[in-house]
Amino acid sequence: MSSTLGASLIHDANFIYGLYIVAFALFIYGLSGLTGPKTAVRGNRIAAVGMVIAVVTTLLIPALDPDGEAIPGFGIGGLDWAVIAGAVIVGAPLGWASAKKVKMTAMPQMVALFNGVGGGTVALIAWIEFRRRTYIEGDLEVAIPSLFALIVGSVSFWGSNVAFAKLQELVDGKPRGLPGQQYFNLILLLGALGISAFIAVKTSQGDQPSELFVIGLLLITGVLGLMLVFPIGGADMPVVISLLNAFTGLSAAAMGVALDNTALIVAGMIVGASGTILTNQMAVAMNRTIPAIIAGGFGGGDTGGGSGAPGVEGVMRATSSSDAAIQMAYANQVVIVPGYGLAVAQAQHTVRELAKELEKRGVEVKYAIHPVAGRMPGHMNVLLAEADVPYDQLKEMEEINGDFARTDVSLVIGANDVTNPAANDDPGSPIYGMPILNVNESKSTIVLKRGRGSGYAGIENPLFFDPKTSMLFGDAKSSVADIVKELQEL
Ligand code: NDP
Repeated sequence: MSSTLGASLIHDANFIYGLYIVAFALFIYGLSGLTGPKTAVRGNRIAAVGMVIAVVTTLLIPALDPDGEAIPGFGIGGLDWAVIAGAVIVGAPLGWASAKKVKMTAMPQMVALFNGVGGGTVALIAWIEFRRRTYIEGDLEVAIPSLFALIVGSVSFWGSNVAFAKLQELVDGKPRGLPGQQYFNLILLLGALGISAFIAVKTSQGDQPSELFVIGLLLITGVLGLMLVFPIGGADMPVVISLLNAFTGLSAAAMGVALDNTALIVAGMIVGASGTILTNQMAVAMNRTIPAIIAGGFGGGDTGGGSGAPGVEGVMRATSSSDAAIQMAYANQVVIVPGYGLAVAQAQHTVRELAKELEKRGVEVKYAIHPVAGRMPGHMNVLLAEADVPYDQLKEMEEINGDFARTDVSLVIGANDVTNPAANDDPGSPIYGMPILNVNESKSTIVLKRGRGSGYAGIENPLFFDPKTSMLFGDAKSSVADIVKELQEL
């Protein structure tokens, strides 16, 4: 009885659409949870439940023929089901284990890898649909979105792999390009569009061109993906990953149009739209434009002495943990400025201890959060939330910048580029115009870093040579722990 009811429900298109709507509602509700660290984990789980519903619902669809009858060999119990189950058994533990194992600082390359897989899958589906001759049966309505999905998905796959390799330091992070690279890329793009137009015209004539054209298209777009990302420097890479993420979303949505699958259209558009917004926000926060990022050539992890070095005067003045402790113990206000180095050192819990010690002495403690501190948007918020830092102590850049002038001590922990005053005063600096935390306005600054290495943009930071600045060299976590010990002994 119940299996008959189940079968008739599955045969009902309204039931399928109903399940999809539940999935979309969960995606959107889950996404709204990602707006704050406290609700982010729950939001992610809710969206994941939505995705499970969308996937299971989609798996049920092939069990139907147009009359609502089960198609032999497809769906539950058929060959497809076994292949899909095999893929889930292999893929799910791989994804779960790698997501569990990844360090927070390696998250951008992880996202690049997962994103690339998405784009590659879309390109392969577009190829498979060509082999199944749906281009001809569906005519241009299927061929055009499929070809778009193939081009964008393939570019995203290869581009994401280069981004992964650069961030994982498997290849050099410096911008690498050929002379006239942009023209070469343009020729590749025109070539891909030409082949696509040929396939589409043939399709509209009820004919199917040789599969070699599709394979050629995959090759050309693969080279285009590689060529687009190789000339882009490491400092722009997280923005590029977000851009490629938007590409993958758009290609999935296009494939959804070709396959007439609402879930793929909605999920693809959500990824495409959120990826585009994120890309734009990151570019604005770095004062970069998307065309300038694509043109490449910026950043690449040079250590020190980059083009920002000329004009930096003075010497770095070293300090000790006991001096730093005394300076902060007698301050009215201390602003902690976290950066990428804090994430590397995993110093967030020790920093929280330090703040508690200072607060015991009546010192007001705030945290200055730059939108692109670390290696991904919200990186510092997530780290500090992990250490239970009260959310109201986290101050966004616009809010805290007016406060630095009345700050006795700014404690810069593993931050560099986001505090670099050259962004305000040196028109020759590659980061000129990037909004920064105005740490140099505070009465004194203590910088915690391991040595004289430069930041992500590979340029010198005049803040470190300022007479009001002292440097406490060493790993951020042990330096902060030493300061805490000194404070406890005061
Ligand atoms: P930076 O990468 O500029 O500097 C980090 C500093 O941390 C380095 O100078 C390094 O110096 C120090 N450091 C590294 N490891 C440790 C450690 N274990 N202990 C102490 N110090 C350490 O970081 P910021 O956060 O200031 O800037 C982020 C950069 O990333 C910007 O250039 C931004 O544009 C870029 N970016 C960020 C994105 C985002 O979304 N967050 C996106 C795209 C780009 P030393 O080696 O001497 O220790």
